[in-house]
Amino acid sequence: MKVQTVSVGVRTKGECDIVDITNDVQEAVSATGVSEGAVHLFVIGSTAAITTIEYEPGLVNDIKKVLERLVPKGAGYEHEEAWNDHNGHSHLRASLIGPSLTVPLVEGRLKLGTWQQIVLIELDTRAREREVVAQAMGE
Ligand code: ZN
Repeated sequence: MKVQTVSVGVRTKGECDIVDITNDVQEAVSATGVSEGAVHLFVIGSTAAITTIEYEPGLVNDIKKVLERLVPKGAGYEHEEAWNDHNGHSHLRASLIGPSLTVPLVEGRLKLGTWQQIVLIELDTRAREREVVAQAMGE
């Protein structure tokens, strides 16, 4: 088995920007030469998350609304008292969704459903440059 590590850079536009990174991940993984195994993705930073969704405008908006319902902005988080950076909700949302995802790799392709895209969700209160580390593991 070999492990190949590559990075995918993602520029986000601001809070709750949901970016489809499927093609970028596929390209980066293809370049590793690993074709059977798994790809582990991990976003660096505690205010962003990775998951899969059907990437269509309705669902993209639904996720934003659900996050606001589950973890409302400005609901009095201790983190903000400590740092005064007004992003307690960002950290909590990021922890709930999680920073990582593992996808099977079959015949060199990410094994995803037709209506299943890999997304990076920006949860901080401003645009950021994000780094997603992809480790392809297998043959
Ligand atoms: Zn913070």
